[in-house]
Amino acid sequence: MEIAHRKDILDLSYPQLKELVSSLGEPGYRADQITWRVYKKLATSFDEMTDLPQSLRQKLSEVASLYSLRPVHEKVSADGQTRKVLFKLDDGKTIESSLMLYAPSGSSRERRTICVSTQVGCAIGCPFCATGQQAFERNLRPGEIIEQVLYFVRQVRAEQQGKVEELDSARRPVTNVVFMGMGEPLANYESVWQAVVMLNSKHGLGLGARQITISTVGLVPQIRRLARENIHVELAVSLHAAKDALRNELVPINKRYPLGQLIPACREYFEKTGRRPTFEYALFQGVNDSPGHARELARLLEGLNCQVNLIAGNPTKCREFAPSSRKSVLAFQRQLKESGVSSTVRVSKGIDIEAGCGQLRSRWIGRKA
Ligand code: SAH
Ligand code: SF4
Repeated sequence: MEIAHRKDILDLSYPQLKELVSSLGEPGYRADQITWRVYKKLATSFDEMTDLPQSLRQKLSEVASLYSLRPVHEKVSADGQTRKVLFKLDDGKTIESSLMLYAPSGSSRERRTICVSTQVGCAIGCPFCATGQQAFERNLRPGEIIEQVLYFVRQVRAEQQGKVEELDSARRPVTNVVFMGMGEPLANYESVWQAVVMLNSKHGLGLGARQITISTVGLVPQIRRLARENIHVELAVSLHAAKDALRNELVPINKRYPLGQLIPACREYFEKTGRRPTFEYALFQGVNDSPGHARELARLLEGLNCQVNLIAGNPTKCREFAPSSRKSVLAFQRQLKESGVSSTVRVSKGIDIEAGCGQLRSRWIGRKA
């Protein structure tokens, strides 16, 4: 198919885009015009790039494409604060992304956080995770990751102003991007990093490094590599257990990268970047949610500059992993505090729309099967 050979503009880094325009016999500043149109004006077609000569627009549409994701299903939570979209990729596979709105009471600082997928399915296979229960199919391209963000940016911007207009930093339609959707971001390192660079770049969305969070199951060599990058993003590590025996069950990659390697890598991340890693701990009833587990967690994290995020697990079709009650979550938090570790309890957003990782897609695939 001809379209498969065209380059997706969103897959190109800024230097690669410059190469493309120069291969078309155009001056380098055309790349700036294109990125300005794509990332600031949110153009979805070359036709909209009216500051480019007609001949270049024509050439671009022959050699390149723009946008390949098709939203096929959308859900909004009952409180209107979480939206989830299932996208069909150009090869027919599906991924999901979400937008979460927070308006902290007593504060004018609204947050609009976009959660993106990085792979179709996931090879790690954490048993409590709806994505882990699906087979790994493929990595996403950088453009497919960026496009998830641009989709919601367009949507919010259109709502903010009634029409899509140039992004201004004062009223950014997106305040945060988290790599917490389907897949393991650090197992698709190159694409994820290219997407991060473009989200952060002044030629792209211009999001601050602190506004970008990569969540990982704990791939140690990649965490060390991330620590050496020149954009210091926030790092979230999905811990869920503080002892190897239990973590081997919950997060099977722990057998390859046990806690004795993971924790020093997280320490190194802090030392090299100045960013305190966040440890995600999802509580499942009778599995990892006792006060004893909290004490183990405090012991593991002793002396480490970090934050802990507790969340009651989201229910999936795997019945062994039922969410802990609110009471157990708070008791766990109390015990952690007594042991010297402060934590936040994350409110699980959008349970009514299966907003947990991979849940909407599981339902969709199940329905079609
Ligand atoms: N693969 C990466 C990022 C995607 S998963 C990772 O594992 O970190 C994003 C987050 O959702 C992770 O913290 C993951 O552990 C968590 N998660 C997955 N399934 C969950 C469930 N059923 N309940 C609560 N958290 C879950
Ligand atoms: Fe993959 Fe993360 Fe789900 Fe584990 S929790 S299966 S690493 S997406």
